Amino acid sequence: MRTRFYNAKILTMKDGEEIIDGEIFVKDDHIQYVGPHKHEPSDFDRQINVNGNLLMPGFKNAHTHSAMVFLRSLADDLPLGSWLNDAVFPREAKLTKEDIYHLSKVAILEYLTSGITAVFEMYLTPDSIADAFGEMGMRCVQTGGLNDFSQSVEQMEDWYLRLNKKDEFNSFIPGFHAEYTCSEALLMDVAALAHKYEAPVWCHNSETKSEVESCKQKHDGLTPTQYLDSLGIFDYGGGGYHCVYLSDEDVEIFKKRKMGIVTNPASNAKLASGMLDVTPFLEAGIEMGIGTDGPASNNCLDMFREMFLTEAYAKIRQSNAAALDAAKVLHMATVGGARVMNLKDCDILAEGKKADIIMIDLKKPNMQLVNNILKNLVYAGSKDNVKMTMINGVIKYSDGEFYVGEDIEKIYEKAQEITDRLK
Ligand SMILES: [Zn+2]
Repeated sequence: MRTRFYNAKILTMKDGEEIIDGEIFVKDDHIQYVGPHKHEPSDFDRQINVNGNLLMPGFKNAHTHSAMVFLRSLADDLPLGSWLNDAVFPREAKLTKEDIYHLSKVAILEYLTSGITAVFEMYLTPDSIADAFGEMGMRCVQTGGLNDFSQSVEQMEDWYLRLNKKDEFNSFIPGFHAEYTCSEALLMDVAALAHKYEAPVWCHNSETKSEVESCKQKHDGLTPTQYLDSLGIFDYGGGGYHCVYLSDEDVEIFKKRKMGIVTNPASNAKLASGMLDVTPFLEAGIEMGIGTDGPASNNCLDMFREMFLTEAYAKIRQSNAAALDAAKVLHMATVGGARVMNLKDCDILAEGKKADIIMIDLKKPNMQLVNNILKNLVYAGSKDNVKMTMINGVIKYSDGEFYVGEDIEKIYEKAQEITDRLK
């Protein structure tokens, strides 16, 4: 299958490259050509006139819990503790792997409408999650949600070995929920697994002030990052989600271990956790992605809102409107995300890279007038501007229509049935 996109503006996200006018050729799952207009023999299966709109790499939602759509707007405006203990955990305890399979599909539809082509997922049943993503043709890098109450290190080893070979859409990186939900014995086993496979490890880290304080009390003044590192968990890298309250010493560990950070600004705002200024990490050369976190704590899966908040927090925290350039935030949402998720071929638009491409409608009023398209995207953009989402060379969403091989109404119906049962 060969597709030609012509009459396009193209933002490749290659370092230092400006937006160009040109064409992209896609062959099967990868990009064959990106560049100026080219006179080619017309042996394409499909030719798409982009009409002067923008093609760019898909967004990478670098932290999410997709199946939590069933908790959306069910228990908002509660303190964090009662939200988790009274609303989330009792309902999650009733979830089956089939429920998670069906619920994940609703989130996948939402990702497509937001131009998201890959997610970094953490939830309860990796096998059924991998089935949902594989069947719908979206990339999913999973990590373990291991804690004292669910999943085991043996299961995680099995997922690591199997899901990395499952299909072109799925992969798995070892991980656990958080320092505060895992015993030391369990964490030692995670470290042993990381050592056995020389693998990186990811977890929620320093999301709230109280999490850091209670870790220090339990472990001789060590922060979560210092404590976990002292167990050898990060000897082969990995990273942290949230990281709102890292100390300078923590940042040194992240640098030394070449670890990544994923910020989740909307979730941090809604749960009143804090506002992370990402600039010190970027200056320290730490690779950074942006995630929505789960739909229970956000509540929408929209990378445009996350990009704006990432910007806003840096500016507010520094009382400086020049704190962070929009280009860096767009880099985090695309290239940075791909790197922390180890999706080496999905970062930029270039020959040989995977065809994970989105089209942005530049004709919408909020993309007008045109002084700087990139800044329009970060400061004025919305998911309403996403005209097309292509993953692995296949158009999955275009002009409001889904092409996922399933009846959308049936996906909603099934998921609502599950949601009503769990209420
Ligand atoms: Zn999370």
